[in-house]
Amino acid sequence: MDFWVGLDVGGTKLSASLVFRDGEPLNLGYVNLSSLSDLREKASELLCGYSLEDARGIGVGVAGWVSNASSSVLFSPHRPELVDIQVADLLSNGSLTCIVVENDANCAALAEADSSLGLFSVTINFGTGIGMSALYEGRLFKGADGLFGELGHCYVGGSSLCECGATGCLEAELRSCFISESDDIETATRKKSRYIELAARGVGWVVRILNPAEVVVGGGVPLGWSNFLEELSLEVSRYIPSSQRFVLPVFRNATYKEYSGSVGAALLARSIFD
Ligand SMILES: [Zn+2]
Repeated sequence: MDFWVGLDVGGTKLSASLVFRDGEPLNLGYVNLSSLSDLREKASELLCGYSLEDARGIGVGVAGWVSNASSSVLFSPHRPELVDIQVADLLSNGSLTCIVVENDANCAALAEADSSLGLFSVTINFGTGIGMSALYEGRLFKGADGLFGELGHCYVGGSSLCECGATGCLEAELRSCFISESDDIETATRKKSRYIELAARGVGWVVRILNPAEVVVGGGVPLGWSNFLEELSLEVSRYIPSSQRFVLPVFRNATYKEYSGSVGAALLARSIFD
């Protein structure tokens, strides 16, 4: 049976999915990935019976900026060891050639392609970092250098040091709102309120500048936060003047949740290696 593998190499985790010629994707789970040198071994574990060698193609989503020209990773604040290496070599020592590398947020957008047909759709992932991507007329919109959608590194004020080297980036300020075990209820409530306020400010810019038909919300933060989507969309509407609320897009959750990146990577591989 023909199948394509999708791997999502996040800041701390690796997830894997398979897509076939027809039918639904098969999501195989995720594991912690502390070192890239374990990538092949961990991927093989997740594939449980399916082998990388038998795949018609492999897509790898990475938490980093992937060059349009070379498919190499230019910068990865959460996984710096990805820069200037050949991900294909980590998986195969050169024996596998049908491998494509793409930014993880772009993979997440591709996972929404079937649900977003004909729409100008923006996908925003709220996790360790903030990933953003867009589909325009069903195709990935990547920008001139593959760096479209770096919403997480837009300045929102504040003094939190970002892993990109700047201060006050949206994703650094949002991370400062993460709740820790030592926080009391009052502190946790204040942090959640601040998180939604900052996130809505960023999404509000996206809505005003790009005028998307829909905003797909993904990433790990919404998974552990009931009503995240409703709270976010309500807060975004407060940033849009009442006279212009007709520009508000539809907000919806990502179709494949924590597997958006790996499903999208597999779909990308299928679109190329078929
Ligand atoms: Zn930054």
